[in-house]
Amino acid sequence: MSLEQKLAASERLLREIAAAHPDAALANSYGAEDMVLTDLIARLGLPLASFSLDTGRLPAETYALMQQVAERYPSHPVTVYFPDTAATEQYVNLHGVNGFYRSVELRKSCCQIRKIAPLKRALAGRSAWITGLRREQSPTRQDLAAREHDADNGLMKFNPLLDWTEAEVWQYLRERDVPYNALHDRHYPSIGCAPCTRAISVGEDIRAGRWWWENPETKECGLHVKASPLTRPA
Ligand code: SF4
Repeated sequence: MSLEQKLAASERLLREIAAAHPDAALANSYGAEDMVLTDLIARLGLPLASFSLDTGRLPAETYALMQQVAERYPSHPVTVYFPDTAATEQYVNLHGVNGFYRSVELRKSCCQIRKIAPLKRALAGRSAWITGLRREQSPTRQDLAAREHDADNGLMKFNPLLDWTEAEVWQYLRERDVPYNALHDRHYPSIGCAPCTRAISVGEDIRAGRWWWENPETKECGLHVKASPLTRPA
């Protein structure tokens, strides 16, 4: 399928979502894919909300992009959700400010406080959410569908860029001069919190820079876990 065809399919899906789920929101983590979706939603003039999770540990480049996006798309503001103050203080005072390096459990509990709990608040009362997940991004994303029921969060989840390649994402961004995270130009294909993201080398997997000290199978923060009776990472 050509990029034009994929683009048309993504636009169709976004229009469909806006019609069927006017309360749907884009989860904007300011990655390259989210910038494509942000631009598409604004360009199509769809009344879809956007939200972002500020973990308090984001790189300076992501904050710079947040400001840039707010200025570029004033008609589509992004609502920011922060972690609970008491839970964050308790974690840091108990485990240390970088306690997440000590074990997968401590990493996941940090993600729980800084990402999952705020995500639950962002999704509360909505019937659907939209993500920029792509199938080729990670071994844990192979069996995703463009439309799926997110049983964990109790709402529909749409992934309009599921079949786009990384090259197609960049073609879209460059052709339309869409702003993107400056870290992408420094070999960070996947960007999360500053202490948990590093640059990758030529030939490395695109998610290799996220939680690089863990096995590939555990490398999800829990934002995109599919309800499964099996052993998907939490
Ligand atoms: S990515 Fe790292 S700093 Fe961010 S919430 Fe997860 S463990 Fe904490």
